[in-house]
Amino acid sequence: MKKVVKFGGSSLADAAQFRKVGDIIRADETRVYVVPSAPGKRFDGDVKVTDLLYRCHDLAAGGRDFSEPFAAVKERYADIVRELELSPDFMKSLEDEFQTIEEHLKQGPERDYTASRGEYLNGRILAGYLGFPFLDAAEGIFFDTAGTFDAERTNAVLSARLEEMPRAVIPGFYGSGPDGRVRTFSRGGSDVTGSIVASACHASVYENWTDVPGLLMADPHIVKDPPVIRSITYRELRELAYMGASVLHEDAVFPVKKAGIPINIRDTNQPGDPGTWIVENTARRPPFTITGITGKKDFCSIMIAKDLMHSELDFYRKVVQCFEEDGVPLEHLPSGIDTMTVVVPESKFVEREQHVLRRIARSVGPESVEVEAGLALIAVVGRGMRAQSGTAAKIFSALAEARINVRMIDQGASELNVIVGVLNEDFERAISAIYHAFVGL
Ligand code: ASP
Repeated sequence: MKKVVKFGGSSLADAAQFRKVGDIIRADETRVYVVPSAPGKRFDGDVKVTDLLYRCHDLAAGGRDFSEPFAAVKERYADIVRELELSPDFMKSLEDEFQTIEEHLKQGPERDYTASRGEYLNGRILAGYLGFPFLDAAEGIFFDTAGTFDAERTNAVLSARLEEMPRAVIPGFYGSGPDGRVRTFSRGGSDVTGSIVASACHASVYENWTDVPGLLMADPHIVKDPPVIRSITYRELRELAYMGASVLHEDAVFPVKKAGIPINIRDTNQPGDPGTWIVENTARRPPFTITGITGKKDFCSIMIAKDLMHSELDFYRKVVQCFEEDGVPLEHLPSGIDTMTVVVPESKFVEREQHVLRRIARSVGPESVEVEAGLALIAVVGRGMRAQSGTAAKIFSALAEARINVRMIDQGASELNVIVGVLNEDFERAISAIYHAFVGL
């Protein structure tokens, strides 16, 4: 049995956090591959090392003095190394690393390389502290010429490398391209590295250690003390994440999902807590009919009316095309008998608005078109809804009791989620009303 453990930036923000991480790894000898992020914030208002490195890059690229943020980066690592009482030789080798980075910054810096040093240095320190070998991610994680993750090459090379290394620290966030140059994932990408490593070594579980007790049923800014979701399927997570709940990088799910490896979200500050399990399937019944509730504001609905639109076979296609040609993504398409509504993100629509409306007028000759902005979408998600009658009734009576007008309803055929459209100003009240109807007060 092998576990891959990824630690986020706040779990490795200072020496005290490093010690917690060390205890967690030493407590279970199956935790053999460790993927660190760069040091994150130690307190509110603190700056993440990755942000300092981006600042160094931007200043250096503009030919300006980068010594201030660079000194701040050095200090962060020096503090950690000193407090962890690593050997003077180690400190010396770290100074050589800083020298190399400084030279690089002075000679036409590369953005990805510079940013990746946050994880690289943290990985070296963590490996030194744990007594684990270090594997540079540039030697095991690959991107293609277009900058997209190259799963095939990575799996082949990384699996072979890990086979020779019973334990290793592999820094998160970066790899290398076909030209050998460092490339990074998008922000938060160490989650993706952890997932890739888990898949390459056929781990039994991918533990993702962070600073929250797990995925919460609802936003704690809206409802008080929402419970942690103990188990959730990949598909439920997708629905919740798409509509705004965030706990993992979006792309982190795919490598492990494909390999059938569950993810366990854990809290470095409460290592005894079970956290959240993200699994393909489970016989575990959720404690409530719904698994979670989330949503987003600022959508627009465009209602197109035309008598007998159903007799025009290409009506829907033509309307969809009008949005497609202007690059406006569609969220939902609720329809009536002689009306069709298109729900789109307001930010993507407003600029192209007159263009799209003109296209619609020309393309399908509607009797009327009504545009309404300021719409919020709420996603009520749960595998338990399939087996339960009366779920929709419960949602809508909760909203009715709170005197909230429902502007749109959409239930996917999977019965995994119900989407409800309300006005932006009713968003928080609506989430709270639905949450309390299922979870209680
Ligand atoms: N350090 C990188 C960031 O701040 C990547 C990560 O933490 O996952 O985005």
